[in-house]
Amino acid sequence: MKAARLRLILGDQLNPKHSWFAHSDPQVLYLMIEMRQETDYVLHHAQKILGIFAAMRDFAGQLREQGHRVYYLKISDPNNTQTLIGNLEQVIEQSGCQHMEYQAPDEWRLDQQLSKFAADSPIDVECVDSEHFYTRRDEVARLFAKRKRWLMESFYRQMRQQHQILLDANGEPEGGQWNYDHDNRHAWRGDPEPPADCRPLHDHSQLWKEIVESGASSFGNPQAEQFRWPLNRDQALELLASFIDQALPHFGRYQDAANTGHWRLFHSLISFALNTKMINPRELVQAAQQAYRERQIPLAAAEGFIRQVIGWREYVRGVYWAQMPGYDKQNFFAHEQPLPHWFWDGNTRMRCLRHAIGQSLEHAYAHHIQRLMIIGNFALLAGLSPQELHRWYLGIYIDAFEWVELPNTLGMSQFADGGLLATKPYVSSAAYVHRMSDYCQQCHYQRAQRTGARACPFNALYWDFHLRHRDRLEGNPRIGMAYRNLQKMDTQTREALVEQANAIRRRLDQL
Ligand SMILES: Cc1cc2nc3c(=O)[nH]c(=O)nc-3n(C[C@H](O)[C@H](O)[C@H](O)COP(=O)(O)OP(=O)(O)OC[C@H]3O[C@@H](n4cnc5c(N)ncnc54)[C@H](O)[C@@H]3O)c2cc1C
Repeated sequence: MKAARLRLILGDQLNPKHSWFAHSDPQVLYLMIEMRQETDYVLHHAQKILGIFAAMRDFAGQLREQGHRVYYLKISDPNNTQTLIGNLEQVIEQSGCQHMEYQAPDEWRLDQQLSKFAADSPIDVECVDSEHFYTRRDEVARLFAKRKRWLMESFYRQMRQQHQILLDANGEPEGGQWNYDHDNRHAWRGDPEPPADCRPLHDHSQLWKEIVESGASSFGNPQAEQFRWPLNRDQALELLASFIDQALPHFGRYQDAANTGHWRLFHSLISFALNTKMINPRELVQAAQQAYRERQIPLAAAEGFIRQVIGWREYVRGVYWAQMPGYDKQNFFAHEQPLPHWFWDGNTRMRCLRHAIGQSLEHAYAHHIQRLMIIGNFALLAGLSPQELHRWYLGIYIDAFEWVELPNTLGMSQFADGGLLATKPYVSSAAYVHRMSDYCQQCHYQRAQRTGARACPFNALYWDFHLRHRDRLEGNPRIGMAYRNLQKMDTQTREALVEQANAIRRRLDQL
């Protein structure tokens, strides 16, 4: 395996369109490594480990077919030191290479390891762009450098203008508005029928056996014989095409809905392929824009989808790089409750959480509103530790990589950064859950009751949250209504709610 130049490909850098691969060069050796360091930094869902390793193996196969030289260390390889730096040192020595390149990692943890390695290494080490994102790491921080408040919406509008997306001939936003979010808040009541799951089945029982034998721990259903996540660019493109055809027309309208019969509704399921870079965000944006222009897909649907990709996705990445290190330690409300056991087994009588967590354990996936307004909402109201919750979200979802998961969990969902990312805490009582889903039907708990043994826990926890954090929240103009309603309650009612909430927090495991 002698080589002049070594190029490292991390498990979320499976971008066949990267300029590295434009020509094959016999002097270049590509290095890919499955390692316990990456399976173990947090407890992972089985499908996340399986999906990344299977996609890496597929990618290595494609590179070899194109004439590239690949040195691939499997998790079961006796030469595998199971750490990034240990393996790098070993391969550099064996290959005799004098030059090494790596693509900029998206996670601070790996960025630190590799930049330290580069600084200490006797050979020449170079970091190159991953050629995936619209923005540079520091772009969000630079945009807001002189502004008092960071606002996703301002960043999003700038992105639309800069990249000429959904603009009319005069450079104005298509349809006259930048944002059609107010059209996108409908509950789904059974019609139209969501698309069937047409993703191909893969049998990964052999790989799963290797992972288990390596000693890596995991949780959730591996679905090793019926694995359906896209594993290469072709499969990612097929998934995108079927989403654009069948789901995008209804994406916006039902974006905030949830339903026990349909775990995906009209969402794209594209995040795993996107975050591992099999597919580029520009391809998503172009496909949605084209569907709007050529096939009359509603503007609110196309705009809603594009906003997630060029707005939220790039924005949270910018927040991550502006705030790390240290962002992961923030805990604005000083919440310390451990996660109840049912985060790991789904076994709770709260039907909404049983479904959202249950499908996460089954598919390593929940859509945005389940992550934010069911699981995250409960966690914030119940006072769960944002750090424990961050590790849970980072482990359970197939698309979870820290640069995108951490700002969403700590910032958007838990308000643990004190409001840098979200302008108000995303919390609600049972009324919202009932309005947007069928979860409250046949639930053990009564959505309309605030106190008593069968009262929905969301209710007392919601009011108690506002009372407990009054000093930190009352001045926020976006939450005025909750405090005005609390003001109207008599002392006895408020005391009963606090008592009920305290009792709930004492027996979270039994809910
Ligand atoms: C607490 C919490 C944790 C989250 N953790 C992750 C995570 O680890 N990885 C991840 O990719 N997304 C995360 N999200 C954002 C969002 O929930 C997922 O991107 C989405 O559910 C993925 O499913 P989809 O591909 O079907 O998305 P769709 O609903 O079809 O949306 C299309 C794409 O838009 C992007 N997008 C949408 N919302 C966001 C957002 N808030 N931030 C960044 N990108 C967004 C994603 O790339 C997504 O694939 C999290 C959200 C919350 C509230």
